[in-house]
Amino acid sequence: MTSGLQGKTAFITAAGQGIGKATALTFAEAGATVIATDINEDALAQLSSEASIRTLKLDVLDDKAVAAAFAEIGAVDVLFNCAGFVHPGSVLEMQDGDLDFAFDLNVKSMVRTIRAALPGMIDRGEGCIINMASVASSMKGVPNRFAYSVTKAAVIGLTKSVAADYVAKGIRCNAICPGTVESPSLQDRMRAQGDYETVRNAFKERQPMGRIGRPDEIAGLALYLAGATYTTGQAYAIDGGWTI
Ligand code: NAD
Repeated sequence: MTSGLQGKTAFITAAGQGIGKATALTFAEAGATVIATDINEDALAQLSSEASIRTLKLDVLDDKAVAAAFAEIGAVDVLFNCAGFVHPGSVLEMQDGDLDFAFDLNVKSMVRTIRAALPGMIDRGEGCIINMASVASSMKGVPNRFAYSVTKAAVIGLTKSVAADYVAKGIRCNAICPGTVESPSLQDRMRAQGDYETVRNAFKERQPMGRIGRPDEIAGLALYLAGATYTTGQAYAIDGGWTI
């Protein structure tokens, strides 16, 4: 296992805030040249002063934009697919279009970036793909997260499929499955549910560790996986003990 990412290029989606941003900073600190992408240019601007981080506006729903980004950047060593969106609601409560949108953003976005990044990795004989799933997936049934859990389970399936197809070509593909992690969208979800403190305490209590995770803790697992040369096709829970 390598201790750092010196000389490596890492491409990250949804790097403007939350876990993606923390990972961009962690990878840069570990020596990587980071391509930090997000649909939100204002959020990316906070990263643009970092010498080893290049920011790039990218909508991962846009096939052509994803292909064009990789055509311009060339081969990357690490691809971290972090983009994802949480729809609330059970199967009866979700809104028309939620499941299609969730598949597009949470799953097909990863297919787009993987199809664009894989040929360059195969040419080099090595590459690392890290996909953002969740414990709310095939790992654990979580109430009111139907569209989200269906699509995050699909992320685990696509991770294992890519890993199996390309293991002999030097490609590793793993998934990260967090529990509840502090982020702007988590704040939005907590505020949307009414009494903020009550909702926050309920989110905390889901984790036996009694707290919400920090983005840098998830970034630490991404860094480990970027250098963990003897693991592929795995889904790593990082959830404060939620799935014990
Ligand atoms: P977040 O939800 O606060 O931020 C998401 C980022 O995605 C934003 O910067 C947004 O601009 C970007 N984005 C949205 N649509 C985009 C698009 N079409 N193209 C490119 N970028 C787009 O961040 P977070 O909560 O850290 O979540 C990041 C990932 O981690 C998601 O996949 C999420 O499902 C997963 N996750 C989060 C938690 C948690 O509790 N925060 C738990 C498990 C998994």
